[in-house]
Amino acid sequence: MADFDAIVVGAGCAGSVAAYELASAGKSVLMVERGNYAGAKNMTGGRIYSHSLKKVFPNFEQEAPLERRVVTERVSLMSPDANLTIGFRSDEMLKEGQDSYTVLRGPFDQWLASKAEEAGAEAIYGIAVESLLKDGSGKVTGVRAAEDEISAEVVILCDGVNSLLTAEAVGFKTPEPHTMAVGIKQVIELPSAVVTDRILAVSDDEGAAWLFAGDATHGHIGGGFMYTNRDSISLGIVATISDLMANSSTPIYQMLEDLKRHPSVAPLIRGGKVVEHSGHMVPEGGFDMMPDMVGDGVLLAGESAMMCVNLGYQVRGMDYAIAAGQMAGIEAAKALDNGNTSKAGLMGYQQALEDSFVLKDLRQFRRFPHFMESTSRIFNEYPALARDVMNEMFVCDGTPVKPLRKSVMPLVKQVGLLNIVKDVRGGVSAL
Ligand SMILES: Cc1cc2nc3c(=O)[nH]c(=O)nc-3n(C[C@H](O)[C@H](O)[C@H](O)COP(=O)(O)OP(=O)(O)OC[C@H]3O[C@@H](n4cnc5c(N)ncnc54)[C@H](O)[C@@H]3O)c2cc1C
Repeated sequence: MADFDAIVVGAGCAGSVAAYELASAGKSVLMVERGNYAGAKNMTGGRIYSHSLKKVFPNFEQEAPLERRVVTERVSLMSPDANLTIGFRSDEMLKEGQDSYTVLRGPFDQWLASKAEEAGAEAIYGIAVESLLKDGSGKVTGVRAAEDEISAEVVILCDGVNSLLTAEAVGFKTPEPHTMAVGIKQVIELPSAVVTDRILAVSDDEGAAWLFAGDATHGHIGGGFMYTNRDSISLGIVATISDLMANSSTPIYQMLEDLKRHPSVAPLIRGGKVVEHSGHMVPEGGFDMMPDMVGDGVLLAGESAMMCVNLGYQVRGMDYAIAAGQMAGIEAAKALDNGNTSKAGLMGYQQALEDSFVLKDLRQFRRFPHFMESTSRIFNEYPALARDVMNEMFVCDGTPVKPLRKSVMPLVKQVGLLNIVKDVRGGVSAL
């Protein structure tokens, strides 16, 4: 008999929810986390879309350590000397289950892990799973950690983007550099009233999300992000590794320092104190880089299965990880009830993912990574075009004004009307 019904590797968004579901179904569960506590090593931008969390914890608003509810969205085309920003707020995006919250992963992940432990899951922290145990047929039968061998009927890998175990579990190959990005972030502390005033919010519960394309990454594939927490601002950059390696002479940490000095960002963080600095990988290859999510005796959920989408105006991974963790926990419990945790017995998880927004979204956006990679104008020419057009509209110097079409058309021609049409069509068909 196995030591546990299930072992969950990793106490991030996916892992704690998978462990919570299994324990709630009365299964014996061990959750193994390499950090000294849940969230110790985790990073996000970050804003969590609430819908999947609400399905697991309907009252999460009352108990989770949320920072601010996002009431304002901003997206910018940034050039070194200018910034065109679209701001958006609506009642629709604030409706229950459609809203989103900024979070800091330290407190958030500890809360999520505590829910799994309260439900009956056992958790050990500060120990990394080194490898998987397998029987003679190749079925995963447990894990090896800290020189111990612990057996289970099913193992759920929720060990994130840099998983060392997915190769063993399902033969996943190391991703190529053009499918991976690197993200860095600083948390900059400021009094909560100052944060509130600077984003023109009316209370300390209201927050803003802001994404930048263009000069934030010095014109390289990627972008900048800013999220307001209760008494801090999370500011960072995500940039594609292959582009950085081949084409950038500026290291990413310098790009972040330059972003902090940009005239559109500097006033927001003025007087703030950097209290945290972190870096992490981001899977950006989308559906086409995903591994098998079901193996013999093993399931993959969250970023260990590359469940992440970056659309430039929307970055999502946590809601996918939570939804996948929930499905993995529920379907593993069913397979345990049926006494069959072979690959065939666990296929309910694959079906649940297929029927859900998780795989539907990832399929929907499968062409987007290629579009971003092949459309460098988004990061260079378009921010410059936006600046030049806006300058034509807003700069008055006493010289006779030309009709707008005459001043704008030469600017458009510089980029090429056909290129613009092609890129708009490409973007629309990839979204
Ligand atoms: C810069 C950046 C910005 C982002 N912004 C957003 C955003 O705004 N919104 C959003 O929804 N998503 C965002 N994401 C993506 C999001 O953070 C991830 O998709 C999400 O955290 C994935 O959750 P997970 O549970 O799969 O993995 P993780 O949260 O990474 O958890 C994996 C856990 O496994 C543990 N672990 C790893 N290996 C082992 C091992 N061998 N043994 C034991 N434990 C192990 C780790 O310590 C960790 O606790 C961002 C990511 C980055 C890097």
